[in-house]
Amino acid sequence: MRVIVIGSGPCGLITAISLKKFHPYMDVILLEKDHDIGSRIKISGNGRCNFINKKLDSSKYSTTFVSHILTYSNEVLNLLDETGFNYYFDSEGRGYPTSESSLTLIKVFKDLISQYGVELRNDYLVISINLKLDKIIINNDLKCDRLVVACGGISYQNDRLNYNRIVSELNLKVVPLTPSLAPLSVSSFPKRLENKKVKCQVSLLYNDKILKTERGEVLFKKDGLSGIVIFNTSSFLARLHLNSYNGYQISLNLLPNISEEKLKSLIQKNPLLDHILLKDLADYVYSFANSANTIRDLRFDVRGIYDFKNSQVTSGGVSLDELNRNLSLKKDSRVYLGGEFIDVDGECGGYNIGFALCSGYMIGKEMDSEK
Ligand SMILES: Cc1cc2nc3c(=O)[nH]c(=O)nc-3n(C[C@H](O)[C@H](O)[C@H](O)COP(=O)(O)OP(=O)(O)OC[C@H]3O[C@@H](n4cnc5c(N)ncnc54)[C@H](O)[C@@H]3O)c2cc1C
Repeated sequence: MRVIVIGSGPCGLITAISLKKFHPYMDVILLEKDHDIGSRIKISGNGRCNFINKKLDSSKYSTTFVSHILTYSNEVLNLLDETGFNYYFDSEGRGYPTSESSLTLIKVFKDLISQYGVELRNDYLVISINLKLDKIIINNDLKCDRLVVACGGISYQNDRLNYNRIVSELNLKVVPLTPSLAPLSVSSFPKRLENKKVKCQVSLLYNDKILKTERGEVLFKKDGLSGIVIFNTSSFLARLHLNSYNGYQISLNLLPNISEEKLKSLIQKNPLLDHILLKDLADYVYSFANSANTIRDLRFDVRGIYDFKNSQVTSGGVSLDELNRNLSLKKDSRVYLGGEFIDVDGECGGYNIGFALCSGYMIGKEMDSEK
């Protein structure tokens, strides 16, 4: 039996390896449009590759559909362990290679591919998929019995045209695509705050009602806010599929760890606030009528989420209604879909590569089983 896997991101790579591990008799071909594998693994985590989280919890995802898929994470790690790949978890459970380099994981995958006998074809762009009764035909060129589509989303450098083409070849229903894990455009603030960072508590409000609160570092950009907490807030917003952001605001509590009493005393001693906050931020907060309130609640109107090019993940994708639990298509169980290509997205912290790996591993292991 021949299986073709499209896409050598984390999902496609581990699918191909897992297929050969559990079904060595299968002939597995991995097709990749780029010249090398794993382009997004390379850039992930600022080149350090936060490839998994110790606790892949479904609450960190857009849907609980992922729960049974995430249970494969230990097996994923065991497979990587087989190669001597070494990694660690930081205090937030984020998993990184001890080499602190994504290239180490790429090398591990290259070695696994050759060890398990996966045939890799680079520079191969899939443009047509023909689901014939007896065979599946790719680009009027390659025939196979099973197909796994792991083409990713459209964030960063992947393009919408390519995504839409694959989706229309398979005639799939798609939940609208929205950039996620991206900076937020917000109402204006003084230019001198650009590139400044502040550790604070970030709340997302709608008409003054708090929807979400998280602590972390915020970076002021040219016309927006960035940082992990802002990325996670963008993922919350992306899932709402809004046409307008009217009424949505970000509130920064600049001193979340300081009591009211202490804050009052600090402001009494230093009304200019420049002994309390970063100078540029202090000047900005001081420009408001009530500094104490502003320190607790510095507001910005949300204008939108940055575009796909500036986002780490795509929210939306092929509708989960199209899929069985084992990620095969309801209308043609010879075809499987995994990773970011489908309507699953996670927060920052290794949840996206983590899902791509777990889904690919499961597809490979459970192919043709009833699970
Ligand atoms: C800057 C950045 C940093 C990130 N950092 C992290 C992080 O630290 N941790 C984390 O968990 N997630 C991170 N992510 C998200 C993560 O990279 C993705 O969610 C993950 O790579 C998705 O895996 P995938 O295998 O589903 O798709 P992808 O990694 O997108 O792989 C899809 C592959 O399919 C190929 N392909 C597409 N169409 C075709 C076609 N028609 N024919 C042939 N090949 C095709 C593509 O070239 C690509 O190689 C980051 C993303 C970005 C952009």
